[in-house]
Amino acid sequence: MNQAAPFSASKARTIEHFEVLIVGAGISGIGSAYQLSKKLPDASYVVLETQESFGGTWLTHRYPGIRSDSDLHTFGYSFKPWVGAPIATATEIKSYMGEVINENGLDRHIRYKHKILSASWSSAQNLWTVEAVRTDTGETLLFTCSFLWMCQGYYRHDEGYTPEWAEMDKYKGRIVHPQTWPEDLETEGKNVVVIGSGATAATLLPAIADKCGHVTMLQRSPTYFRTGRNAIELAEELRKLQVSEEWVHEIVRRKILYEQDAFTRASFEKPEKVRKDLLDNIRNLLGPDYDVDTHFTPKYRPWRQRIAFVPDADLFKAIKSGKASVVTDEIERFTETGILLKSGKELNADIVVTATGFHLSVMGDIAFTVDNQPVDWAETVTYRGMMFTGVPNLAWVFGYFRASWTLRTDLVAEFVCRLLPHMKDKQAKSVSVTLRSEDKDMPILSWIDPENFNPGYLMRDMHRLPKRGDKREWQHTQDYWVEKDEFPTIDLDDAAFRYGT
Ligand SMILES: Cc1cc2nc3c(=O)[nH]c(=O)nc-3n(C[C@H](O)[C@H](O)[C@H](O)COP(=O)(O)OP(=O)(O)OC[C@H]3O[C@@H](n4cnc5c(N)ncnc54)[C@H](O)[C@@H]3O)c2cc1C
Repeated sequence: MNQAAPFSASKARTIEHFEVLIVGAGISGIGSAYQLSKKLPDASYVVLETQESFGGTWLTHRYPGIRSDSDLHTFGYSFKPWVGAPIATATEIKSYMGEVINENGLDRHIRYKHKILSASWSSAQNLWTVEAVRTDTGETLLFTCSFLWMCQGYYRHDEGYTPEWAEMDKYKGRIVHPQTWPEDLETEGKNVVVIGSGATAATLLPAIADKCGHVTMLQRSPTYFRTGRNAIELAEELRKLQVSEEWVHEIVRRKILYEQDAFTRASFEKPEKVRKDLLDNIRNLLGPDYDVDTHFTPKYRPWRQRIAFVPDADLFKAIKSGKASVVTDEIERFTETGILLKSGKELNADIVVTATGFHLSVMGDIAFTVDNQPVDWAETVTYRGMMFTGVPNLAWVFGYFRASWTLRTDLVAEFVCRLLPHMKDKQAKSVSVTLRSEDKDMPILSWIDPENFNPGYLMRDMHRLPKRGDKREWQHTQDYWVEKDEFPTIDLDDAAFRYGT
């Protein structure tokens, strides 16, 4: 709906107003749009998305084999049954999201090719003014909204993270990042070195091993992996009994969440036992002659970094077949034909894939101001990992690391869809979170405790992220099993919430 402009715009003439503006059409943005449309059907809203379509992570990543590393019963939405194999390809995830959009008429609310540049809160108007540029026409557009729902993920979509190694410019082969996989890249018959040891490297290796000359995973240090059949026996049994897909989804979700909870707790309470079980599995898969100690025995406690699930152990089958191998070493420098390692060994490569992670993007790299003052997110303290001191009428969906990211989309949605009517009831136009008198002496800490979880992209840029306190209300606990019970009971009249009329 168009309205008279409450903002003196230099470049854009009309301003569209919506009650809620959702940033991003990834799995979080689409899930949030669905929840909003069902729980508050009268609320006007728009979803703005930079890319040309929905999908976020699953649209951006196009490297061979791209797939989820958690199961789609919990990574998928609670409200839409997942009927395929639990570990899914990007294509399958996008088609599932497409069904959610079509079945619920969400498409008319989504504007693609709209990149948000800035968001300015005015306490005088109790509004956000959002400036977006159309990536196809270059046109600048202005929107106002009462509430900003940030579903922009956590990393930059246009470019992955590649470290600078000595003499990279001398290398005559091709260097590619999985996040920007070139359509014309031909790996058939080529020697490929994949730098990295995470889920992406573990996915790429088996996907290209059959056809390329040889593929080597070059890692500085090893990672934990779990393996299993890409199927859930309970789902198969229930389907045999002709139980409806809605029930299968719900029952299997509960089973997986129960087992994940047990595994996560065991990794804290009995880390040595969990470590042994994980490593014994890899030893069984690779056989007694394989040097598991060097290549698959991490130095850290299980779950400090995400543990990737390898369906049907395909990574280990590729290694066992001899078509793929692992080298654990450090890069000294690039050469014309490959990589010289600190051990003195040289790896020849026609193609080097840098599966070395992401650039953290704090709040979609949007320039935020509150009453004309730039927002420095690192100066804010988070309320439960979703709201931030000094930044009114805004919530962020930052998911879970040890459980499916999306489980938090539902929790945040439940909260936002309770908060907005609560504000209406109170005739409040703004809500912000603020430390209470009892929080005054609370230690202020980094966004995530590095002892708890420490992936590289967070460690590199933690100083740019909001802070947390040492009380549950003032942190993202990363504990779905506690938060699922706590979020629905959050007291919206707690002194942490300040309402303005
Ligand atoms: C290869 C890969 C595999 C993964 N597998 C799993 C998994 O199996 N399980 C799991 O739990 N997690 C997984 N993750 C983490 C994953 O990113 C999240 O789980 C999830 O997909 C994030 O969804 P999202 O919608 O929050 O963010 P994203 O998928 O990052 O989507 C955010 C969207 O917001 C848009 N956007 C950002 N900034 C702006 C802006 N300024 N203006 C307009 N639009 C903007 C982006 O273009 C993007 O489309 C994986 C990540 C990667 C990279």
